[in-house]
Amino acid sequence: MPVHTPPHPLAILWFRQDLRLSDNPALIAAMDCGARILPVYVLDDEAAGVWAMGGASRWWLHHSLLSLAASLKAAGAPLILRRGRVEAVIPALASETGAAAVHAGIAHEPFWRRADARIAKSLQGSGCRLHLHRTSTLIDPDTIRTRTGTVYGMYTPFARAVEALGEPAHPQMAPRTIQAASEIASDALHSWRLLPTSPDWSSGIRATWSPGESAARQRLDVFLAKAAAQYGTSRNLPGEDGTSMLSPYLHFGEISPRIVWHAVRRTQAGADQTSYLRELIWRDFSAYLLWHYPTLPKAPLRPAFAKLPFRHDPRALRAWQQGRTGVPIVDAGMRQLWQTGWMHNRVRMIVASFLVKHLLISWQEGEAWFWDTLVDADLASNAASWQWVTGCGIDSQPFFRVFNPVTQGEKFDSDGAYVRRFVPEIAGLPNQYLHAPWTAPPLDAAAAGLTLGKTYPAPLVDLVDGRNRALEAYRGSVREPAS
Ligand SMILES: Cc1cc2nc3c(=O)[nH]c(=O)nc-3n(C[C@H](O)[C@H](O)[C@H](O)COP(=O)(O)OP(=O)(O)OC[C@H]3O[C@@H](n4cnc5c(N)ncnc54)[C@H](O)[C@@H]3O)c2cc1C
Repeated sequence: MPVHTPPHPLAILWFRQDLRLSDNPALIAAMDCGARILPVYVLDDEAAGVWAMGGASRWWLHHSLLSLAASLKAAGAPLILRRGRVEAVIPALASETGAAAVHAGIAHEPFWRRADARIAKSLQGSGCRLHLHRTSTLIDPDTIRTRTGTVYGMYTPFARAVEALGEPAHPQMAPRTIQAASEIASDALHSWRLLPTSPDWSSGIRATWSPGESAARQRLDVFLAKAAAQYGTSRNLPGEDGTSMLSPYLHFGEISPRIVWHAVRRTQAGADQTSYLRELIWRDFSAYLLWHYPTLPKAPLRPAFAKLPFRHDPRALRAWQQGRTGVPIVDAGMRQLWQTGWMHNRVRMIVASFLVKHLLISWQEGEAWFWDTLVDADLASNAASWQWVTGCGIDSQPFFRVFNPVTQGEKFDSDGAYVRRFVPEIAGLPNQYLHAPWTAPPLDAAAAGLTLGKTYPAPLVDLVDGRNRALEAYRGSVREPAS
């Protein structure tokens, strides 16, 4: 009697924030069950609501999907694109294809977690199951607890607990070939209109970035070859290429944190290595906070800060967004963001502090602008960082710490390279006045072609007055129970 071998079961591989083939546990799990694979990406703006991807992220996603589709095609399994509510699209795809399993990465965002629960429920009884895998972070947020079983609120003990787990598992190689399911209908990527048209604001972003898995590897190699060895000091200098610029690749999952971790581990960089790995743990800490405090993006984690008397000042907000506050390091950062979709971490802290404290405009306004303009916009890292700067997160800088943008500029951009690059209209000022152009004597200003209020704005706020106003507002409204 002829032996009848059943066809391999079909598994849907649902790509989310893990747009890569190497070290992708969802892909490995799907292949391990001997399945034919149907790779899918779903664009769902509705579930995310106000946190639907911003403009810069959409630009990145477009190119990232092109790159992923090319790698999948080369491996033998074309990428299928669908648009709509994931909780409708995924079960519909499962029934259309007779899939036995859906494999996907774990998402930390509350709206995706709700959608995942609904998908798992609607697949019940259909013979198909949703399997979620850790594809985007180093640790499982449910496994890290304090000795008394509570959630860590402070970064340092959290980082120690992560380190005590030992090294993360070694990354897995990308498969050379993937056994594909028969092809089904797919949207055309251009029909999603992810790229800006008129006006096309993306030229600076195009010139700065190449999304995709192989570009992520190249970026990592460049970092390891040069900046990694001085990371501990050069990471604070925005005028230098001192950081890895891997954040958008990590956010979209074009490279896994384990790949980065082990590649950095193999270098001989000592303390600089530790300092870099600690940043990767910060990224996990943000995801951990979002996992355990789903309100992180919209409400202060310390309720005592909910009543800060933030001002409604659209003119000042616009000036901040456009990099026209009259404070050079702030304007340089905001212009770097607009032009390239990215901003140096030190400068992110300075511009955020300036908005929330000197201008007394709410952190949620800044968070929303970053969300729209950053190519690495990440719900967890963005929200946790804004709360940190504001002082309203659990582990935050004290609220009375107000960055002075002039001394920050003088300390971290002492030769003015960063400010001169993004604020060319004051480039001719001598270094000693560059970070505070309003202090330049008339002769120096004239020699540099500077007319304050005409060629470059006068500062939007007096820095001392702004600081005092912020401290008064904080002291007047933050009433925390004595500890
Ligand atoms: C107000 C504000 C908003 C921010 N918003 C985001 C955001 O939306 N997305 C985002 O990825 N980062 C955000 N950050 C954190 C940080 O600024 C960026 O991760 C970093 O600048 C990315 O550059 P890099 O890849 O060169 O970092 P590197 O210095 O090379 O660090 C390596 C990696 O560690 C992670 N990392 C570094 N610093 C932090 C941090 N403070 N918190 C969490 N992860 C970190 C990033 O994934 C980064 O790619 C924000 C910081 C501030 C102050």
